[in-house]
Amino acid sequence: MKKKSNFFFQAIHLSRISHLAAAKRENDMIQIENCAVSRLAQTDLTAPEFGKIPTDHMFIAYYRNGEWEEGKIIPFGNLLLSPFTLALHYAQSVFEGMKAFRTGNGKAVVFRPEAHYNRLSASMERMCMPIMPKELFVNAVLAFVSLEKEWIPTVEGGALYLRPLVFASEARVGVKIADEYIFLIMACPSVPMYAKPLSVKVETSFSRAAEGGTGAAKCAGNYGAVFYPTLEAKHEGFDQVIWTDAKTHSFIEESGTMNVMLVKNGTLTTPPTSGTILQGITRDSLLTIAREMGVPVEERRISVDELKQGLKDGSITEVFGTGTAAVVIPINKIGIQNEQFSIDGSFDTMIKLNRKLSEIRNGLEPDTQGWNVFVN
Ligand SMILES: *Cc1c(COP(=O)(O)O)cnc(C)c1O
Repeated sequence: MKKKSNFFFQAIHLSRISHLAAAKRENDMIQIENCAVSRLAQTDLTAPEFGKIPTDHMFIAYYRNGEWEEGKIIPFGNLLLSPFTLALHYAQSVFEGMKAFRTGNGKAVVFRPEAHYNRLSASMERMCMPIMPKELFVNAVLAFVSLEKEWIPTVEGGALYLRPLVFASEARVGVKIADEYIFLIMACPSVPMYAKPLSVKVETSFSRAAEGGTGAAKCAGNYGAVFYPTLEAKHEGFDQVIWTDAKTHSFIEESGTMNVMLVKNGTLTTPPTSGTILQGITRDSLLTIAREMGVPVEERRISVDELKQGLKDGSITEVFGTGTAAVVIPINKIGIQNEQFSIDGSFDTMIKLNRKLSEIRNGLEPDTQGWNVFVN
């Protein structure tokens, strides 16, 4: 089953995406309807609350009559939707979370837009949604960021958090694959939150994703489903849970909206992505940087027993979460069954990798992988 789902995602990457790799990056043809008055001047970009302040505009494109229309940029505003809108009933809805940064010379870059396109396409395939052409996605992101780049906070670590969203917009009550969709890109300014170390509970009764399910897709239904177990963990005094495999609850998977990494005897170790773990782009970026820097890396299954033993004997010196929103967050307290463990280390590996990644994104270190795409 594991093999099948890996193959499933690889198949999409090869057949649907690679032939589009040479797509042109022209964004001057996207129609822009400017907002009457910008809210930028009245917005305090030094400490925006994450996810609360939209920028002035949004991108919108419709899928109708069997094809994706070009789309346009319009003032940010409410949508008018029928109560029959399919996505609201059956969660045929997928999204991405990505960022744009300022580089030293007053320019802006979008971090790994093609990787986000590939993952969005994989999520859409899993949810039976019509994949959009790569140039539609990439051009829209670049044109949108070009228009909104003044919203990128200038404080260190400041970024524009971009939220592409695609949902079934057809109005019809009746379980079916929709014939109409809306693709939106919205954004909000983000600054680094003080990464307070997390206390997490290794969850061994509830599950986030089962083999054959939708765990590897960034689809709406995966998130509503985990509120309940996460709230239970909060009542027990934890901030988050670390999920374990649904079948045996004996191997760790990921945490909240973050992948999980640990450092054991100096080796950066993380579970391999599979049908039940989201393929984090931050995860991939950090592993790539670690390999480049000569940090030993292992992608392999990690059992709950191994985690427990390593925390007991001190061979595990760091545990942390990785994701676009926070980049990295240290985990310093872990509850496993009824035992509590804590980590007092200085998280040197995590800090070193995080620093390198942010320097690449801000143009201070060479971008050897071609991850940054400059905006006009
Ligand atoms: C988005 C997400 C991640 C992190 O992915 P990034 O591409 O690094 O942001 C990890 N797990 C889940 C469940 C997610 O939704």
